Amino acid sequence: MQTIGLLGGTFNPIHFGHLRIAQELAESLSLNTVKLIPSANPPHKPLPLVSAEHRAAMVQIAIADNPQFHFDGRELNRVGASYTVDTLESLRSELGNDISLILIMGSDAFTKFNTWHRWQEIITLCHIALVQRPASPNKDILNKELEIFLHNHYTENVDDLHETSAGLVTMQAITPLEISSTAIRQALKLKHSARYLMPENVLSYILSKQLYSTVSA
Ligand code: ATP
Ligand code: MG
Repeated sequence: MQTIGLLGGTFNPIHFGHLRIAQELAESLSLNTVKLIPSANPPHKPLPLVSAEHRAAMVQIAIADNPQFHFDGRELNRVGASYTVDTLESLRSELGNDISLILIMGSDAFTKFNTWHRWQEIITLCHIALVQRPASPNKDILNKELEIFLHNHYTENVDDLHETSAGLVTMQAITPLEISSTAIRQALKLKHSARYLMPENVLSYILSKQLYSTVSA
C-alpha cells in the first residue's frame, strides 16, 4: 500500500529538527512521500508573529531540493482554526481510503493530543508515528487517557503500517536534535546567529525579509 507521512507544524521557522524527522522517518517507515503541512491558525498556540505566507515560503524553500518531500498548503487556505482532523478528512477525500497515512508527531505535541479537536477520530483516519523530543523528557509524561490510547493502538512492527491505512501508533527512534523554533526566534531577536540550525537558504530568506526582528546585512 502506498504510504504517506504527514508532518504538521507552525514551522515558525522550519529547522533541521523538522527536516531530519521527515528524512529519517521516510527511511525507517519506507514512506513514499512526506507532506509538510504548515498550520494557518494553530488552535493550541498564540498567533505567530510571522505571517502564514512567510512560514509557508520558508517550508517551500527548505524542501525545494528534495523530491520526496511535498509542501501541502491546505490548512493555509482554510478560514478559521485549522484542525488536524479536518486536514485528514480533506486528505482522505482526495486520496481515498486505500492509502496509508502516517501522522508524525513529536513527544511534546503528543502529551496534549487528547485535547485536540475530535481527537479520537484522528486515529480512524491515519496512523501516528511518535518521535522523542530531546529537550524535556520529564514534560513528556502521558496522562492516563493517553496511556490507554497508546496501549490500545500500539505496534512495534513497521510492516503493520503498510498493511492497514489507519488505526495504529508506533514510536520511532531518531537522531536527537535539540533544536526548536522558539530558541531560533529568541536567538534572532538577540541578534545571535542561527546558522547551522536550519538550511542556509531559509536563513537568507529570514534576513532578506527582516523576520524575527532581524536586520538584513
Ligand atoms: P515552537 O518552538 O515554535 O513550538 P517547534 O520547534 O516545536 O516550534 P513546531 O512547528 O511546533 O516546531 O513542530 C512541529 C512538529 O515537529 C511537532 O510535532 C514537534 O513535536 C516536532 N518537532 C519539532 N522540532 C523537533 C525536534 N527538534 N525533535 C523532535 N521533534 C520535533
Ligand atoms: Mg512546538
